[in-house]
Amino acid sequence: VSSIIQFAARHYGGSEIVSRRVEGDIHRTTYRDCELRARRMAGALEKLGVRMGDRVATLAWNGYRHMELYYAVSGSGAVLHTINPRLHPEQIAYIINHAEGQYLFFDMTFLPAIEAMARHCKTIKGYVAMCDRAHMPQETGIPTLLCYEDLIAASSSDYAWPEFDERSAAALCYTSGTTGNPKGALYSHRSTVLHAYASSMPNALNVSSSDVVLPVVPMFHVNAWGLPYSVPLSGAKMVFPGPALDGKSLYELFESEGVTFSAGVPTVWLGLINYMMQNELRFSTFRRTVIGGSACPPAMMDTLIDRFGVEVVHAWGMTEMSPLGTACTLMAKHRALPPDEQRAVLRKQGHAIYGVDMKIVDDDGSELPWDGATYGHLLVKGPWVVSGYFRGEGGEVLQDGWFPTGDVATIDADGYLTITDRSKDVIKSGGEWIGSIDLENIAMAHPAVLQAACIGVQHPKWAERPLLVVVRRPGADLSREELLAFFEGKVAKWWIPDDVVFADALPVGGTGKIQKNKLRDAYQDHRL
Ligand code: ATP
Ligand code: MG
Repeated sequence: VSSIIQFAARHYGGSEIVSRRVEGDIHRTTYRDCELRARRMAGALEKLGVRMGDRVATLAWNGYRHMELYYAVSGSGAVLHTINPRLHPEQIAYIINHAEGQYLFFDMTFLPAIEAMARHCKTIKGYVAMCDRAHMPQETGIPTLLCYEDLIAASSSDYAWPEFDERSAAALCYTSGTTGNPKGALYSHRSTVLHAYASSMPNALNVSSSDVVLPVVPMFHVNAWGLPYSVPLSGAKMVFPGPALDGKSLYELFESEGVTFSAGVPTVWLGLINYMMQNELRFSTFRRTVIGGSACPPAMMDTLIDRFGVEVVHAWGMTEMSPLGTACTLMAKHRALPPDEQRAVLRKQGHAIYGVDMKIVDDDGSELPWDGATYGHLLVKGPWVVSGYFRGEGGEVLQDGWFPTGDVATIDADGYLTITDRSKDVIKSGGEWIGSIDLENIAMAHPAVLQAACIGVQHPKWAERPLLVVVRRPGADLSREELLAFFEGKVAKWWIPDDVVFADALPVGGTGKIQKNKLRDAYQDHRL
């Protein structure tokens, strides 16, 4: 992967990388500087005894130092292992021990977590605080505490990026843990670079040197969807939000840096959109966003397009595929369609990006037709789909070279994918499937609904029936009956949820996804 930053440094060396730091200030650097510092850090890792294939972990926000580590660690031959800082220190220690991490780099925000877990991390030889000498913490009780800037300063710029087999491991990322324990996906240099090429194509991210890119996807989550690897290929300016992810801070950064492109899961947009609506604000430069990771609610898509003039590319992917699988853009033949029909196409998850193949199969594994009406289990194939989980957990995952995604989907005759549900979330009512995503989308189109999740709960006659858990907009008034009436005529009668419960908030995991297994546990005894 070091070839990417070498290219960017040589051909777009002056392009900026701007970060809001943990310290609160705005830091500016360039691709040229990023490559140089990453190379020096790679040399420092070698001096510390980090060898080919060793795991080096990070616990950090989106920022320039984190980006340097993307290249320093993998570029030195070691395996970058980004960890979700929102996990409990015990879970973090478990993951580090599981991955046998050798060094752990961390932002100062996470010092208390490090102090709490350091003695449980048996394999770690040193902890590196991502700051300069002046900001180093005193008397921490952490055994070997090193300073990031000191390591770079003490390392020579003579270090040359090594060459190695492109199939060797570059990064290790754990899944979101939405349905259970996170699973480790291992990426090779080959899969990372191929994914970076393919995901930058016009039908996917479509980023160019005139863009300003702000990744709101956390860098611990599947390499921030690969943005730190794909964006430098185009020489675009990058902007990192650091720890300030609330609507106001994000909006200010979008405006002050002239952000044109961003990508993230739907829930992270909620805060920004709400803040802008409340304050009647507009974007000056923001033109395009990729939304995926969970289904983009139609109401959110409409607000972004119609009110804020932002092009929305709905995408589907998963950690196990680095992550991008599909992205939705219109085809030439759609230009003649009326606006609402065009919008209906944009709501789908879209075409496979170049390099990915997909199919849907029934319970017995027989391939199903692409007619836009037949639902089946989604299987994918491609050079950046992992072949198994780290340390072989979960056994053999590929079925004749195809990866079973655990998602239920339909594909139409034009090749557009529509995800209806996760196999685990699908509601099985009297032997028929009810897609929870459709029901959530309808609920969220109601002006008084902020968030909705639909789960199956036990039913004496139908085995399972849909229950809707809803968070109302602040100050909004909405009754159960009113919301249920809202479903009339929008779906088949037997799809209409049996009941609605109102909640103050929904349980979300570290990457911002609603954890329906927790909701199912909470409402398992709910009587319909
Ligand atoms: P875990 O596998 O640990 O339970 P997770 O599946 O949420 O967690 P990720 O790899 O982050 O971990 O997410 C991939 C999943 O997210 C997909 O399998 C799919 O269910 C869902 N997903 C991603 N994009 C979309 C989308 N655009 N629409 C609907 N669902 C999506
Ligand atoms: Mg998953």
